[in-house]
Amino acid sequence: MLIGVPKEIKVGEARVGLTPSAVVEYVAHGHKVLVETGAGAGIRADDDAYAAAGATIADAADKVFAEADMIVKVKEPQAAEWAQLRPGQILFTYLHLAADPKQARGLMESGVTAIAYETVTDSRGGLPLLAPMSEVAGRLSIQAAATALQKPNGGRGVLLGGVPGVQAGKIAVIGGGVVGTQAAQMAVGLGAEVTILDRSLARLRALDDLFHGRVRTRYSTLEAIREEAFSADAVIGAVLIPGASAPRLISRDMLSGMKPGAVLVDVAIDQGGCFETSHPTTHESPTFVVDGVVHYCVANMPGAVPLTSSEALNNATLPFGLELADHGMAALGRDPHLRAGLNVHGGRITHAAVAEALGLPF
Ligand code: NAD
Repeated sequence: MLIGVPKEIKVGEARVGLTPSAVVEYVAHGHKVLVETGAGAGIRADDDAYAAAGATIADAADKVFAEADMIVKVKEPQAAEWAQLRPGQILFTYLHLAADPKQARGLMESGVTAIAYETVTDSRGGLPLLAPMSEVAGRLSIQAAATALQKPNGGRGVLLGGVPGVQAGKIAVIGGGVVGTQAAQMAVGLGAEVTILDRSLARLRALDDLFHGRVRTRYSTLEAIREEAFSADAVIGAVLIPGASAPRLISRDMLSGMKPGAVLVDVAIDQGGCFETSHPTTHESPTFVVDGVVHYCVANMPGAVPLTSSEALNNATLPFGLELADHGMAALGRDPHLRAGLNVHGGRITHAAVAEALGLPF
């Protein structure tokens, strides 16, 4: 099969669908890989690195879209890209179609077979191609909090780890899933005092086992959130209710009860945000202040570390991508978890929840 890797064109996106080391794997399976010139610039992998991995370099995206049997990307195709997709071609990338009717229509009209990273499942009911980006965002959230807590950035002027003889900073993590667990791990590593709140007792038990008493766990009630937010230097919002907008857990009224210069990191901003005063921000201007509390609400956190993010994403997508390359559409029949990723085929939406969200027949 000929695998095509175009350069990402969505504003601010520096990740790449295949790293050079993933190209080596496809080539070892007997496939050919066509990479658009400069596709790896954001991760400092130049055309020579791709050529050394066995890829052919295309001088423009049109050639990649025209020739490839399967396109591997990171972000959902933009209008100029979906116009170039065609029947019989496979598109393997993040799509997030449920909230994007224009793109859904574009993909349906193109006739492409589109497999969305975010709906591929695993045997434990997880979403294995979303998890790596949650891991990145979770770990990054503590770096964001530590930076925002510095006085020149508007924060309280607290060093999360303290120093000998001085109390460490206090972090409250609301939501103990993938993001929350990784955030807690980083905060513990820095020497902060950490509390994780979750609505799932099973999750709290697992976290208690994992951290051997190094973090406090607390059942997430309104009162518990209020108490923890009022005593924290930084609060990490890491909740998810599958298929729903994030619940608003900290209201504007509550900000006046928080420490002046405290920090709210709203990782759940891509689901609407879990703090009432959140609105999406960018890496160029990541924070704003409301009632003396610094807010960090970057909707695409992994974009800040495209090298780590591209490698983490490739590690997760590679086995599924190779299945598709080796077996074509038959791979979907062989693996129900990959089949769960099928969102568009033959001009129709083929995923029940996505069709329902778009108000389209399934
Ligand atoms: P997850 O499903 O692994 O974990 C979510 C956790 O939230 C679960 O343990 C759940 O029990 C808990 N929860 C739900 N309601 C709660 C409440 N009221 N109080 C406390 N806990 C509650 O999800 P995840 O992968 O960790 O993702 C968390 C959020 O981060 C999602 O909204 C996701 O979209 C977002 N995210 C954002 C970025 C970004 O760049 N901003 C990147 C990755 C993920």
